Amino acid sequence: MTRALVPGSFDPVTNGHLDIIGRAAGMFESVLVAVARNSTKSPLFTLQERMDMLSEACAAFDNVEVGSFEGLLVEYAARQGASVVVRGLRAVSDFEYELQMALMNRRLNAAVETAFLMTGTEYSYLSSSIVKEIARLGGSVEGLVPDHVGERLRQQVERSGS
Ligand code: ADP
Repeated sequence: MTRALVPGSFDPVTNGHLDIIGRAAGMFESVLVAVARNSTKSPLFTLQERMDMLSEACAAFDNVEVGSFEGLLVEYAARQGASVVVRGLRAVSDFEYELQMALMNRRLNAAVETAFLMTGTEYSYLSSSIVKEIARLGGSVEGLVPDHVGERLRQQVERSGS
């Protein structure tokens, strides 16, 4: 049985993430979506909120679980029995950073392989940052994130008064 880890900030989860998670769920027996606690980015949503939104969005997949981690990804993967890390690639601009991370992770633990899935064309322009920006400016995020995430974004933007 191969267990795959799909790590990220998921601030918040988008339909682009869900495309990658769904495809990974079709390729591997078990998928653990892992929210990074110690992101250098300062997130809009708390760790718990990001995990709750992901759990709701992934409820339809019966082989997908949601967890969180801090510290080294390869150590978390080993503790969780995951031998593959799945990442999504949108554009050439993602490549350099992803290559660096994948090579460093292999150096830290050669037993954990990184696999890349190309974005679905309709999601190639989609990122959590652009979704947050649209929500802040009062635009519609319909079709970019699940409806319940769109609702949370609207509430969060109202709360922060921006
Ligand atoms: P990170 O902060 O680690 O980049 P993100 O939450 O932004 O975390 O992204 C998690 C993973 O999902 C990354 O591999 C990223 O490349 C991928 N991803 C994000 N948006 C998309 C998208 N629209 N299509 C495909 N993959 C995506």
